[in-house]
Amino acid sequence: MVHVAKKCVICARLTSDFSYGVDCCSACKMFFRRHVVAEAQLKPCLSGNQACAKDFLAGCQFCRFHKCLQSGMTLEPLVPKLPFEELFEIFSDFVRYRNRILSDYYPSDPDLKVSTILFFKKLKYKQRNDLIPMTISSWIYISSIATIEFMKKLPFIYLAKSSDQLILVKSSFIKVSSFSAAFRAYSSDQNALSFPDGSDVLPFTPEVKLFQLDTVSRISKFSALLDLSETGQILVSTYQSVYSNALFEYCMETYEKFGPCRYTELLSLINLAEKHLEDVNNYFVILQLHGMDFLIPELVKEGINLI
Ligand SMILES: [Zn+2]
Ligand SMILES: [Zn+2]
Repeated sequence: MVHVAKKCVICARLTSDFSYGVDCCSACKMFFRRHVVAEAQLKPCLSGNQACAKDFLAGCQFCRFHKCLQSGMTLEPLVPKLPFEELFEIFSDFVRYRNRILSDYYPSDPDLKVSTILFFKKLKYKQRNDLIPMTISSWIYISSIATIEFMKKLPFIYLAKSSDQLILVKSSFIKVSSFSAAFRAYSSDQNALSFPDGSDVLPFTPEVKLFQLDTVSRISKFSALLDLSETGQILVSTYQSVYSNALFEYCMETYEKFGPCRYTELLSLINLAEKHLEDVNNYFVILQLHGMDFLIPELVKEGINLI
């Protein structure tokens, strides 16, 4: 058989290989595989603009990876398909990490932005002193930070371009944070959301219980992602499909013939998360109207379209 040399669609070196759906050299193939299978973090873009030229690609891990995605290399078959128990264990670790920040720490910087939390490798925290009373603002602030730190550990976030990371995180950290609070309330048999010290998340409208316990789940799905770049959409849809498959597998094994029904029920919670975000939005608009917007940290405003 005669192999006709073609150009690698990523780095333009001559190659006769065809892997993951495209003509690519073995170096690019290995590179892509390593980062997806081993979930190895990418080094930041060398030129900083996340658009390095072709002849620069071999040196810039970040742009080379995105070029692989853009060129049509198939991602999903390479994403490790862990049994759901293992996947849940990894997620539980992330959640424990989030809860540790939430219960014991406070950032040295009282005015962090979403971008600072996302792009600074290591934020500075100080141990929280139990004697210092937490207010609603400080709880909202630390819950948001802990949630964004948690989200940074997910592959479709850390592999994405900075602009996509911002879109993904800003559009969902309030929802993810609410789900976590709902789950905590559910686990400790409370009938409404509260902060870890037991204080009400909505102290000014105690009569309005915006949340019902059956809204609880840790599933989150991202919406309104039309602004994502091509590679951002590939990353999100691929990992979403991997996670949904694991959830479906879990439902089938746990609920047997009721598995598909349970799966649909769980997915319907996504609508509740959307509705909840709307309620949170309205609540903060009311605070603003009453001149109480000092209670809303700037960071949180980034997640609820108030700026
Ligand atoms: Zn190549
Ligand atoms: Zn680059």
